[in-house]
Amino acid sequence: MQHGSILIIGGGIGGLSAAIALRQKGFGATVLERYPDMHASVFGVGIIQPGNALRALDAIGCADACVAAGYPAKQWGRMLDVAGDHVHDMPGVAIAGSTLPPLNGITRPRLHQILTDRALAVGVDIRYGTSIDTVDDDGDRVTARSDSGESFTADILIAADGVRSRVRRHVLGTEIEPHYIGQSAFRINIPRLPEIDCIVLQGDDRGMAGYVPIGPDLAYMFYNAHLGAHERIPEQELAPRLREYLARFGGLTARVRDEFIADDAEIVLRPEESIGVPTPWHKGRIVLMGDAVHAITPHLGQGAAQAIEDGVVLAEELASDRDVDAAFTAYTERRYGRCKLIVETSLAIGEWEMGRLDGFDNVAATNHVLEVMAQPL
Ligand SMILES: Cc1cc2nc3c(=O)[nH]c(=O)nc-3n(C[C@H](O)[C@H](O)[C@H](O)COP(=O)(O)OP(=O)(O)OC[C@H]3O[C@@H](n4cnc5c(N)ncnc54)[C@H](O)[C@@H]3O)c2cc1C
Repeated sequence: MQHGSILIIGGGIGGLSAAIALRQKGFGATVLERYPDMHASVFGVGIIQPGNALRALDAIGCADACVAAGYPAKQWGRMLDVAGDHVHDMPGVAIAGSTLPPLNGITRPRLHQILTDRALAVGVDIRYGTSIDTVDDDGDRVTARSDSGESFTADILIAADGVRSRVRRHVLGTEIEPHYIGQSAFRINIPRLPEIDCIVLQGDDRGMAGYVPIGPDLAYMFYNAHLGAHERIPEQELAPRLREYLARFGGLTARVRDEFIADDAEIVLRPEESIGVPTPWHKGRIVLMGDAVHAITPHLGQGAAQAIEDGVVLAEELASDRDVDAAFTAYTERRYGRCKLIVETSLAIGEWEMGRLDGFDNVAATNHVLEVMAQPL
C-alpha cells in the first residue's frame, strides 16, 4: 500500500513518531489527540533514550535535536552498592554504523516539542482536543468519531492511544487490563551532580535508587517503592516517605536525600503497570502500537524507545508493496519478540527489586537486553 491517508489516535511519543515516519514515506497523516494542546498531554519528569531509541529517532529526523537538547552520556550506566561504593560499570552496546551516544537523557517537554516541531514541518495534521469515542471499519475505509460528534475517515487507523487504549478492545474482541506490578516510582528533578554522567543505580535486592542526567545541569532521581495496590501516600507525606526509604543509603543517595528531598510538591509518584498483548495486533484496517500493546515498566528505560521503533517499522511495512493485512502482519512479526523481551525483563527486574527473585542477575539481564536492542530493527 502506498500514499494513502492514515489516522493516528494519540499524540504521545508513539503516535507522533509514527505520523512523522508515515509522512516521510508519502502518506497523509492526521493525529487525533484528546488533550487541548501539546503541553497538556506531557507529564512526568525525564526520559531515558537508549541507543536504539536514538537510532529510531534518527530515522524520523529527531535524534540530533534530542542530543542537543539533552545530556548525551559516554556510557550506559554504573552500579553502586548501598554504601555508595562502585560495583560495576555498564558501558552499553554500540550500534553498528551509528555515531550516536549509547544513552541520552532528556526532559519530556523538550522531547515532545522536538517531535511536534518535526511532525508539523513534514506536514502532519495534528488535531488537539479530539477525544475518539468509536472506530468503524467498513472494509475499505475506517472512520473515527470523537465524543463531540466530529468524524474522520481514512484508509487506515493506527491506535497509539496508550496503556488504557479504547481501540484495543475493538481489535482484540475482548479487553486485557494492565496490571499493577507492586511497585510505584518516586521521581524528582535534582541538580546534575558531577557523578551523574550516565544512569547511576545504587542499591540491592531490597530497593534501588537511580539517577538519570537529562541536561547539562539537570538530572532526575527515581526510587521504585514496594507498595500495595491500594496503598496511597498523602501528598504532604511524599518527601518524608521517600527519605525514609532512602535512610539506609550512604554516598550519592545520602547526599541527595539530605540536600534535595524536602518539597512534597516536587515529587511525582506513579504506580507501575505492565501489559503485554498477544498477537494479532491488528484487525482489518486498524492496528495497535506503543503502550496500547506493550506498556513497559520503566526498569530498562525502553517504553518510549519501543513506541518510536513501532512507528518506524509500521511506516516501512505500510510503504512496501504488500496489501494492508500483510503489512500489519510483517510489522507485528518484526516487533513482537523484541517488545516481549523488554516487557518480561522489566518485570523480572521489578520482582528482583522487591526481593522476590533470588539469584537474578539484573546487570546481566540489562546487558542482554541492550545487546538485543542494538541488533537491526
Ligand atoms: C513514570 C514513567 C517513566 C517512564 N520512563 C521512561 C524512560 O525513561 N524511557 C522510556 O523509553 N520510556 C519510559 N516510560 C514509558 C513511556 O513513557 C511510554 O512507553 C511511552 O510514552 C508510550 O508512548 P505511547 O505514545 O504509546 O503512549 P502515551 O505516551 O500514553 O500516549 C498516548 C496518547 O494518546 C492519547 N489518547 C488516549 N486515548 C485517546 C482517545 N480516545 N482519543 C484521543 N487521544 C487519546 C493520550 O492523551 C496520549 O497523549 C516511562 C513511563 C512512566 C509511566
